[in-house]
Amino acid sequence: MKPIRTFNVVPSLPGPLEGLRRLAYNLRWSWNHDTIELFRRLDRELWEEVGHNPVLLLGRIDQARLEAAAADAGFLAHLERALADLERYLSGELTWFTRAGGRRQGTLVAYFSAEFGLTESISVFAGGLGILAGDHLKSASDLGVPLVGVGLLYQQGYFRQYLNEAGWQQERYEDNDFHTLPLTLERGPDGKPLAVEVAYPGRAVRAQVWRVQIGRVPLYLLDANLEVNRPEDRDLTDQLYGGDPEMRLKQEILLGVGGYRALEALGLNPNPPVYHLNEGHAAFVALERIRRLMRSEDLSFAEAREAASAGLVFTTHTPVPAGHDHFPPELLGRYLGEYARELGLSLEGLLALGRKNPADGRETFGMTTLALKLAAHSNGVSRLHGQVTRRTWRELWPGVPEEEIPIGHVTNGVHFQSWISLEMNQLYERYLGPSWREEPADRALWQGVYSIPDEELWRTHERRRERLVAFTRRRLQGQLSRRGASEAELEAARGVLDPEALTIGFARRFTGYKRATLILSDPQRLARLLNDPAHPVQLIFAGKAHPRDEEGKRLVQRVAELARQPAFARRLVFLEDYDMAVARALVQGADVWLNTPRRPLEASGTSGMKAMANGALNLSTLDGWWDEAWQGADPDEPIGWAIGRGEDYPDPALQDRLEAEALYGLLEQDVVPAFYERPGGLPRRWLARMKASIATLAPRYNTHRVVREYTQRCYLVGAERFRALAETGWGRARALAAWKERLQAAWPQVRVEAVKADLEGDLRVGQALDVWAWVSLGPLTPEEVRVEVYLGRLDPGGELAQAGATAMRPVEAKGPGRHLFQAEAVPCQMSGLHGLTVRVLPQHPDLPVPFLPGLIAWAGPESVAQQTSG
Ligand SMILES: *Cc1c(COP(=O)(O)O)cnc(C)c1O
Repeated sequence: MKPIRTFNVVPSLPGPLEGLRRLAYNLRWSWNHDTIELFRRLDRELWEEVGHNPVLLLGRIDQARLEAAAADAGFLAHLERALADLERYLSGELTWFTRAGGRRQGTLVAYFSAEFGLTESISVFAGGLGILAGDHLKSASDLGVPLVGVGLLYQQGYFRQYLNEAGWQQERYEDNDFHTLPLTLERGPDGKPLAVEVAYPGRAVRAQVWRVQIGRVPLYLLDANLEVNRPEDRDLTDQLYGGDPEMRLKQEILLGVGGYRALEALGLNPNPPVYHLNEGHAAFVALERIRRLMRSEDLSFAEAREAASAGLVFTTHTPVPAGHDHFPPELLGRYLGEYARELGLSLEGLLALGRKNPADGRETFGMTTLALKLAAHSNGVSRLHGQVTRRTWRELWPGVPEEEIPIGHVTNGVHFQSWISLEMNQLYERYLGPSWREEPADRALWQGVYSIPDEELWRTHERRRERLVAFTRRRLQGQLSRRGASEAELEAARGVLDPEALTIGFARRFTGYKRATLILSDPQRLARLLNDPAHPVQLIFAGKAHPRDEEGKRLVQRVAELARQPAFARRLVFLEDYDMAVARALVQGADVWLNTPRRPLEASGTSGMKAMANGALNLSTLDGWWDEAWQGADPDEPIGWAIGRGEDYPDPALQDRLEAEALYGLLEQDVVPAFYERPGGLPRRWLARMKASIATLAPRYNTHRVVREYTQRCYLVGAERFRALAETGWGRARALAAWKERLQAAWPQVRVEAVKADLEGDLRVGQALDVWAWVSLGPLTPEEVRVEVYLGRLDPGGELAQAGATAMRPVEAKGPGRHLFQAEAVPCQMSGLHGLTVRVLPQHPDLPVPFLPGLIAWAGPESVAQQTSG
C-alpha cells in the first residue's frame, strides 16, 4: 500500500531539553566525550541499540524518561555545560586559520569525496578513504579553515557484514532513514527543497541537498531518490560503489557536476576559489567549473581551464593501476557528448583530457588522468605513495625525470579527538596540558608524554584492554546467537580471550595485498605462540571484503575457520561488521597493531595511527605511512617493529614466506618477551616504547597537521593564484592561455644546439664548473624559457641519477632566435662518475610548475654533452 501523503514526525522534547536537539544535529558531539556521555546518560541501552545516533535516540526514547531527565538538576547542568561548550567552540574567532594569517573573506575550499566516514550511524562510507575525508572535515572545523564538504547521500550506504555457518561473508544492506539521522534538508527562500539538475541521455535528473553539520563545517550530500526521477535514476544514490561502470559514471556526474551546482544553488558566492578532490571520483567538478566560467566570464575553454586549474587540488589514494576509475569512450560519449559541445570541445577533445595518450582512440577515459591533467597541485598520501604515483603517471609528462614529476605527497593523519579513548584523553590533559587538543601537531607538547608515570600509563592502558575484551565477548555472543549457535558455543564466547594477555589487533579491508592471513601461515607455530601458558598472546581480527572480491572472502573464511579450531578457540577471534565503533574499541584496547601489506600497495593506512595515539605499538611491513614513520624515528629509541627492511620482491610467494618468518621471529624473540618482562611489576621496556612511539609519531600523524599542510601549501596558494588570474577582467588567465598556445606552436623549434663545459681532467668534490649553451628558441624570447644545467652522478646503467638543476642566464643573442646561456660555478658535491646535460623548460610567472606535458627539450648527443670523473 502506497501512502497518499507522507509527513515527518519529530520528537517532542520537554522545554528544558530543547538543547539536546541542537547537540544532536551538530556532529561535534561525535568527538566530544562529555556530550556522548550526556546522550548515554539519557538511556544507556537505547544508545547502543540506536547505533550511537542521537537523533534516533531522541525519537525513540520513552517520554517518561525524558520527563525525568527534564526534572533532574544534575542532568540539566550537564546539558548546560555541553551546550555552552558547543557555543564556545562555534563562536571561537581566534582559530589557527586566522592566526596563520588566512583571510576568511573570499577563501573557501570545497572538498569533494565519494564517501565520508563521520560516525558509525551515517553509513555513507566504505573504508579508509571515507574515514580520512571525515577526519579532514573535523580537523578543518577545529582549525577554523573555511571549508565545505560535498558528497552523495546513499540510500543504503555500504553493506553490513555477517558470516554464515561456513564462515562465508554475507552482505546485508540497510536503508538509511534520512529523517532519523542528523541531516537537514536544504531549502530555498520559498521554503521548497533546493534541487539541482544534471543531464543524462535524453533526460534531466534531479537531486536534493542534505546538510550534515560538522562543527563549523557543513557537508552537503546529494540525494537523487526523488519521485520526479525515472525509477532507474532514483536508484542512482542507492549504494556506495555499487553497480556497473554506467552506474558509476552516473554517480560521478552527479557528484561532480551536480555537486558544483548544489554549491551554486546554496549561494556560496563568490564561488569557492579552491576545489579539493579526494580521489578522482569527483573530477567532473573541474569540467563544470570550466563550463560555468566560460559562460559567466565570457572565457574560452583554454582560458577558463587556466582559471579553474589554478585552484584545483587533487589527492590520489590508489597505488594499484586497476584501482583507478576508467570509462569506455562509447559510454562517455553517450553521457557527455552534449556536455563536450557546451565546453566548446569535440568528443575527442573531451576524451583526450582523460587519456594518457590522446592519440589513442581506444584508450579509456580515466578520472585520475583527468584530475592530474587539470589540477595545479596533485599529491599522494605518503612519501612512498608519492614515489609510486610519480612512477605510475610519468607517461603524462614525457621526458621529465621521475623525481621531478609534479606529484608530491601529503601524508595522511587521523583526527585524534575522534579516536582517542576517554581515559587516554584525560591522561594527555593531565600531562600535556589542555591545549593538546587544539595543538596536536606540536612536537614540544608531546614531549610531555615522558612525564607520565609508568604506573599510570600502564593502568590506563590495561583498563582499555579489559574494555576491549568485554566488548569482544559481547559482540561475539551477539554474532553467535544471530547464527543460532549452541548454548555451549555461547558459553565459550563468554570466556573468550584473557584481559591480561598480550593483545594483537588486525582490522582492515580483507583483500589480497593486505595479507590478513600472513600471521596464520604456520598454524602450529602460531598456536604455540598464542598458548604459551606463562606468556599468552591473543589475536582479534575484523574486516570486510568487497562484495565482488572472492579472494578477500576466502581470507575472511580462513580466519573464521581457525577461530573455531580448539587450538585457537580462546585466543583468536573474528569480529563481524568492522565499522567505526569496532575500530575504536580495537585501536583503544590493543597492545600491538599488526599490519602486513605487500609493499608498496598500501597508499598510507591510518588505523595504525589511531592505535599509536592510544598507546598501541605498531608491528608492520615498511609500507605506506609506516615506511616514513620508521625511517624518521631515532634507532636508539624504538617506536614499534618493522617486518623486513622494505625490500621489493619479484616473487610474491617468496615474499610471503620470508616476511611470515620475520613476523614470527619478531613476535617470539622481541614482542612477547618485552611485554612480559615485568621488573617491579611493570613492563618498563614496553612502556618506554609506548612513550617513544607517542612522542615521536603523534605530532605528525594527525589530521590537524594534514589540514595545515594542505592549507599552507595548496589552499591559500591556490586561492591566491585563482584571484590573481581573475584580476583585470581575467586578463592574466587570458594571457596565460594565449601564451601556452604560442608556446605549444613554437616548441618544435626549441633546441639545444651546443653545450660547452670547462672540463679538463678530473674535478675535485666541491669544485665548480662553468657551462655555456647555445639554444635555438624560434620566436620565443629568452625570458619565456628556463634553460638549466642538469648535473649529477651516473648510475650503473649510464643514466643520470641524483641529479640537480641549475638555472642558466641568457648572456647574448647569437642571431635570429639563437641565444647563448651561461651558468657559472655549478658545484659537484659528490665524488664518482658524473654527467651533465642541458634542458629547456617553459617559464612564466603564472605557471605553478615548470613542467607542461611534452614541453621539455634536452640537449641531444649532437650538442656534445661532456663528462668527467673525479
Ligand atoms: C581507520 C579505518 C579504516 C582505514 O584504516 P586502514 O589502516 O587504512 O585500513 C577503515 N575502516 C574503518 C572502519 C576505520 O576506522
